[in-house]
Amino acid sequence: MPPSATYGPVQVFLGAQNGKFPDGNQVIVRGSDTCLAFDTPLVARQLLEQLRQVDGIVLGHVHEDHTVALGDLLHVPVQVHAADLPSVQSWQGLEQHYGYGADVIEQLRPLFSQTFGFTPRPDATAYHDGQLWELGGGVRVRAHHLPGHTSGHCALVEESSGVAFIGDIDLSSFGPYYGDASSDMLQFARSLQRVRDIEARVWVTSHHKGVVTDRAQFLEALERFGAQIEVRHQRLLDTLAQGPRSMAQLVAGGLLYPPDLGMPQIPCIEQCAISQHLDFLQGQGLVACAEETGLWYKC
Ligand SMILES: [Zn+2]
Repeated sequence: MPPSATYGPVQVFLGAQNGKFPDGNQVIVRGSDTCLAFDTPLVARQLLEQLRQVDGIVLGHVHEDHTVALGDLLHVPVQVHAADLPSVQSWQGLEQHYGYGADVIEQLRPLFSQTFGFTPRPDATAYHDGQLWELGGGVRVRAHHLPGHTSGHCALVEESSGVAFIGDIDLSSFGPYYGDASSDMLQFARSLQRVRDIEARVWVTSHHKGVVTDRAQFLEALERFGAQIEVRHQRLLDTLAQGPRSMAQLVAGGLLYPPDLGMPQIPCIEQCAISQHLDFLQGQGLVACAEETGLWYKC
């Protein structure tokens, strides 16, 4: 049985290394009438007995590492924010969610299906910002739409205990991830402000940080996490200060990841993230793109 901690009606099961990717942390909330699970990361495979008893699975967002046990729990209803719904309902939806291109998806399919057991759930249904689940005995869960990581990314908050499951606002040293078609850097930055306003006493991340029970520590970790966006802006500016670069050169140099990671999706992720940074910096009048050459340069 994985290590766990209990906060009133909320039980948190920690995946390997505090849920470090590819694992994640599993949350189960028990009311007097109804029991809900948040996500099903790899660690869920060790908890199938308990998960078979839950009344519903509420996904904080859709990525392959959050949907691992859905194929083992076909009798359990699944809900996800409307914006992420198509990505859990079909392979095609998942592929559009990532937006990597057919050749890359072809290479990733075995990883998604074997390592993460991705099983489409066409029966999944949508929830929306502010949705409330009353589980009985005063136990209630509310969804807070915090897009950016994916367009449907939500925090799920059990209000009687003040436990906020904040998903992939994971407070990691890597910083915010917004490298897929359904991601948005600027929305992520706004969500980092809005998550501060959620009333909570315990913050549970999907990965890395695990559980934080001190608000000052949470805010400090959130600040550090969000600051990576600015670090990446600066990294791009420093690169362009050395001379104009094409998008292909910037992608090859890597912004989020070291250039030689060797995973097939990395160039797509880098291009997606770099484009968002360049758009922002262009809006600030700090960089521009030469029409004739297509090269980006520092203003
Ligand atoms: Zn994710």
